[in-house]
Amino acid sequence: MAYRDNTKVVHIGDKVIGGGNPIMIQSMTNTPTEDVEKTVSQILALEAAGCDIVRCTVPNQEAADAIKSIKSRIHIPLVADIHFDYKMAIAAMENGADKIRINPGNIGSKDRIEAVVKTAKERNIPIRVGVNSGSLEKDLLEKYGGVTAEGLVESALDKVHIIEDFGYDNLVISIKSSNVMLCVDAHKKLAEKTNYPLHVGITEAGTLYGGNIKSSIGLGIILNEGIGDTIRVSLSGDPTEEIRTAKMILKTLGLRKGGIEVVSCPTCGRTKINLIGLANDVEKMVQEFPLDIKVAVMGCAVNGPGEAREADIGVAGGIGEGLLIKHGEVIKKVPEAELINALREELVNWK
Ligand code: SF4
Repeated sequence: MAYRDNTKVVHIGDKVIGGGNPIMIQSMTNTPTEDVEKTVSQILALEAAGCDIVRCTVPNQEAADAIKSIKSRIHIPLVADIHFDYKMAIAAMENGADKIRINPGNIGSKDRIEAVVKTAKERNIPIRVGVNSGSLEKDLLEKYGGVTAEGLVESALDKVHIIEDFGYDNLVISIKSSNVMLCVDAHKKLAEKTNYPLHVGITEAGTLYGGNIKSSIGLGIILNEGIGDTIRVSLSGDPTEEIRTAKMILKTLGLRKGGIEVVSCPTCGRTKINLIGLANDVEKMVQEFPLDIKVAVMGCAVNGPGEAREADIGVAGGIGEGLLIKHGEVIKKVPEAELINALREELVNWK
């Protein structure tokens, strides 16, 4: 049985995580939160991409106040990200945040943590206790001789115990590191010691290229170990890309169903159409269809038809044209320029 089947169930707005519920995909806005227009528009784009829960930074009172207006215009739960000022955590909750993310180590004295926990308790708002390798305490660095998985786990559980001592256990934990294998190790160790739901991510993973690879490897291993209740792919890029990658990771691991899977060939000397352009266009175009099917985009009429037959529908390129193959049968020969529309038409009327 996966670790995640036994984690505590936590409600974040209208979403439920933990206890074997479907793994939720999160992202974070990169607009100034106090700029309501920009933030709402980015969140709506994230929603359209398939984001389940969104996080916004709350560094000041303007941002905390903006949460109320933002919340009235979006449709997914909002998590307030708090760094140092405990008053912002309280203000964010008063303004409707569905969850807060804090590192109690950065909040300061126990009195301040207690004040945050008190508000969370009154409103039954979950707290994500987030620990990053970059902010590991000095004593733990000394104890373990640097940043280690054991140190991260101990740091996270220490923070959790502080909050538990104030009588609150509506918690989610995250431990993040940009060192992928250290992060994997830390999650395995943490999952053995706690049954709080875990939010999993590889922090500061990098650009689209490096970040996608690091996140896919890190999240892939961790999720495949049965660990993880929510995930975030962190990329230096458009946050909607994070959602695309996260969805692909979950689908590849068989942890999420639905949505069209596109397979395409690597092209070779036989390819006589702009297959790479077509595959990229098809990948974007299929996003709008909630079908659970496989679409093949193959470069030639030698191997292409065979591969396309394995899929529910596919294209096999020829010279300036392509074959459209549905359920294993060639249904049409289409000029290259019309292939994408012909494929789209089939998806619109999918049977
Ligand atoms: S499907 Fe055809 S074009 Fe694509 S890699 Fe295979 S042989 Fe080459």
